[in-house]
Amino acid sequence: MRSYLCVIIRNGVHFLFDFEPLMSARILNGNQIRDQIYADLRGEIAALRAAGVQPGLATVLAGENPASKMYVSSKIAASGQLGLASWRRAPPSTVTTEVLLTLVAELNSDNAVDGILVQLPLPPQVDAKRVLEAVDPAKDVDGFHPMNLGHLVTGRPGLVACTPSGVMEILRRSGIRVEGANAAVIGRSDIVGKPMALLLLHANATVTICHSKTRDLAEVVRGADIVIAAMGRPWFVAPEWIRPGATVIDVGTNRLSDTDQAARLFADFPERLARFREKGSAVVGDVHPGAAEAAGAITPVPGGVGPLTIAMLMSNTVKAARLRRGTGRSASETRAAVSAVKP
Ligand code: NAP
Repeated sequence: MRSYLCVIIRNGVHFLFDFEPLMSARILNGNQIRDQIYADLRGEIAALRAAGVQPGLATVLAGENPASKMYVSSKIAASGQLGLASWRRAPPSTVTTEVLLTLVAELNSDNAVDGILVQLPLPPQVDAKRVLEAVDPAKDVDGFHPMNLGHLVTGRPGLVACTPSGVMEILRRSGIRVEGANAAVIGRSDIVGKPMALLLLHANATVTICHSKTRDLAEVVRGADIVIAAMGRPWFVAPEWIRPGATVIDVGTNRLSDTDQAARLFADFPERLARFREKGSAVVGDVHPGAAEAAGAITPVPGGVGPLTIAMLMSNTVKAARLRRGTGRSASETRAAVSAVKP
């Protein structure tokens, strides 16, 4: 946190203060919002079970990537916590595209499996696009299949990518008005930036999509009531870019392990630097923490968007079970579908 000097002159006497400004932003706690979503899902899962449907998620993890293993374990743990069935397929890192296609075909034809998650990145010899496109769109709980992306573009109900739909849940459940707002989405990836921009557009925001070739990014961000940072650049978005009172959603998840980089980044944050030295790593977002001084609301990293990504994966699995096995729409989906076709 930066500190400031303040001079107050009263009756000819100078008072000098050295102070740290209070954080003004409301912290949007992703863990609390995840828990609300889980509470809703538990009710839906109980209703499905009562109708004889046990929703289930299959994960495919190829190879030994430690971060991927951790993500998949968290997803399986969340499934267990909610009482979803789960299956784990773990082919070796030498797996071929053909073997993965066969595996996906088996999961597609298994009626007990409602959701299929192929953990990325896949080993370099695998044609990842072919594998992702082989997943039955009705079981595509990551929302990456072109058919689901097409549904999103045209505003039809379908399975939507988890991180952007998690961001929408944060905004909705925190009472942040999206309609009419100027939103800047920094990042245009297929899995975060593009679907994020479409969801905001469908919610009637005026959306600017920014990327590495955007001219004067700071100026675009300054014009935004809602800033979504999804660029993968540690603390890139500076505090002075933030319009006072804006909502800032930091999707960035940057794992630092380089000592020099950490020393530079945490030069004004001795406690963080000490924690980094203790653990040998740290996770930071794309937005500088000083942004909390100007923002009206902001997500922390970690503990902001991250928990929502898994929550929305669980939600998509339950949704896939309902849509695929003919148990109808939930009340919230009916509302969403109706509003999606409104002019
Ligand atoms: P990505 O595929 O690498 O895309 C990054 C985007 O940021 C690109 O569109 C790139 O522009 C843009 N960008 C990079 N540098 C920029 C700059 N200097 N100025 C403006 N734009 C810039 O990354 P991603 O998969 O979308 O992920 C983005 C971040 O979100 C990462 O930190 C990732 O770890 C995190 N993430 C978090 C979650 C979660 O659950 N919390 C989930 C998914 C992703 P170009 O297109 O021009 O290259």
